[in-house]
Amino acid sequence: MNLDRVFQNNELWIKEKLALDANYFDALGKGQNPELLFIGCSDSRVTAEELMGLGPGEAFVHRNIANMVSGTDLNVMSVVEYAVVILKVKHVVVCGHYECGGVKSAMQSADLGILNPWLRNIRDVFRLHKTELNAIEDESKKYERLVELNVQEQCVNLIKTAAVQKAYRDRGLKVHGWVFDVHTGKLIDLRIDFDNILKNIMEIYHLD
Ligand SMILES: [Zn+2]
Repeated sequence: MNLDRVFQNNELWIKEKLALDANYFDALGKGQNPELLFIGCSDSRVTAEELMGLGPGEAFVHRNIANMVSGTDLNVMSVVEYAVVILKVKHVVVCGHYECGGVKSAMQSADLGILNPWLRNIRDVFRLHKTELNAIEDESKKYERLVELNVQEQCVNLIKTAAVQKAYRDRGLKVHGWVFDVHTGKLIDLRIDFDNILKNIMEIYHLD
């Protein structure tokens, strides 16, 4: 990749934006008011804004390997706190994707160094849903299902946080679990029944 291209693209992009709205960057410079926090995978195919058709200022974004929401990860926890408490986003999305290398690695037993503790969180998802997953004989179907269940469990991890619980109660913050199908480009809403999950886990995780 010729990086000069990136700067040429940037100049073109500025021209395009200004042609549509001469005040575009003045408005951007004034601040942000995104309604959505998007937590996705670092995978280069899962492009957040582009696949949702959103522009600058519309989504607060965090990406890491396999779209994990780990309570001990200061990075993702800071993003969630800032988006929910300060920016007051209305929706929090965890978006997984099929063909996720992070999820695939967690299904294998290779030693991947510093990635081991990170991927262990996905192995924990496998353990939680072992009965369902082991009943799936087709390996690629099992892999797809683990991608979906991982999204679900990361949404549950969001619900375990005080910031999300408070915003859910006070102003109806919504948590969504989505999967991006890299084979078709389609964004799939897993329609996870959070009210039900919440009822079941609040007894253990409620924070006030
Ligand atoms: Zn991935």
